[in-house]
Amino acid sequence: MLNDIKSQTREELEGQFAAWEQPVYRVKQLMDWLYVQRVTDWDAMTNLPKILREKLRQEFSLGVLELVRKQGALDTTQKFLWRLADHSLIESVLIPANPSLYGEPSDRHTLCVSTQVGCAYGCKFCASGLDGWKRNLLPHEIVEQVMGVERWSAEQAKVESLNSEVPLTLSLSPSEGERVAERPGEGTIQPSTLRPRNPGNGFPGPRLVDNVVIMGMGEPLANYDHLLKAMRLLNASWGGRIGARKITVSTSGLAPQIRKLADEPEQFSLAVSLHGATDAVRDRIMPVNRKFPLKELTAALDYYQARRGRFITFEYILIAGVNDGVEQTKPLGALAKRLNAKVNLIPYNTVEGLPWARPEESVCEKFLAAMRAQKVVTTLRREKGHDIDAACGQLRLKTERELAGRP
Ligand code: SAH
Ligand code: SF4
Repeated sequence: MLNDIKSQTREELEGQFAAWEQPVYRVKQLMDWLYVQRVTDWDAMTNLPKILREKLRQEFSLGVLELVRKQGALDTTQKFLWRLADHSLIESVLIPANPSLYGEPSDRHTLCVSTQVGCAYGCKFCASGLDGWKRNLLPHEIVEQVMGVERWSAEQAKVESLNSEVPLTLSLSPSEGERVAERPGEGTIQPSTLRPRNPGNGFPGPRLVDNVVIMGMGEPLANYDHLLKAMRLLNASWGGRIGARKITVSTSGLAPQIRKLADEPEQFSLAVSLHGATDAVRDRIMPVNRKFPLKELTAALDYYQARRGRFITFEYILIAGVNDGVEQTKPLGALAKRLNAKVNLIPYNTVEGLPWARPEESVCEKFLAAMRAQKVVTTLRREKGHDIDAACGQLRLKTERELAGRP
């Protein structure tokens, strides 16, 4: 299998071009085609000599993700299901203007990307791990989720400018001709829901994604090297041009890799899926806690804090009868204060076939109030995207099961 061009750093390409005796400015031209024009075909790179394009074609693949299903919730969260070259399915979720999440201005779009096909960590409440782990994503497969959504959005902008609304006719397999985007709201472009920012940065089409959260399917820190390369490609001034602080990695608590991340030069942001502030609660729902119990996790976070001096975000799903008791706010508050963390409370998204439930709204509000009473910066996500299976892994799982004829 050829290496993909979007898994290459600028330095790697410069080395390759030097070996081919190509001038270095050609690398910049290539980067522009890849990350500014976002082309999907070597032949579109018209200012590169034909002979160079041929060399590139022979040496590298230029992979794009195939959009096989798209869902858009009424509240404008958009979910993308992609098929990879090996036919694996992964998903990305586009969340427009969600100021409550990370406290940023609201004219932004956050894209949640996947890093693995499936997940090996088997948290009891999560759809991503239900069918196990299949493989790590390659750097370009992570980067392409952003590029693919931006390409898609540029297409929508064209459609919008024609002032029309067109249905997407996506099929899982063109040969089978099976159409899956059939529910109301699915597969239908809703022009009013997408407000791409001004082009800026020399983009020919509108830029859409200005925040990336690595919170889709998979445990990002278990795919450390590919993840880091992808984040660097997304962050690079010649690449995705997304600020390091606007790229947030979420982990279920891989202590050694948290320390490693703390030693990297970039200021990437960190979120920890805590979901329990005691070992008793975490052990019950997150097998990873047996490997890295809270003592070890918090020691790694102390190290991260000391190296970075940046706040951490704790993700805390509220699951009825498991971790939503107001008595849990004491140890959670203490941990958050010690680590200078802010807390995102997320009412659980029910997953078909799993026994867990979302608490009553009043329970969530009470939990929030008890956190705030301790003067811990806490937000409660008044869920977006619940109606489109927005929690990680759910759309893929559903589609895999539909394809396999399973319930
Ligand atoms: N593996 C990483 C990142 C992917 S999971 C991690 O665990 O952090 C992204 C987030 O979605 C995690 O906080 C995870 O706990 C949460 N999540 C998983 N299933 C969910 C569900 N059904 N409802 C709400 N959040 C869920
Ligand atoms: Fe994997 Fe994260 Fe889901 Fe746990 S919550 S199974 S680590 S994707």
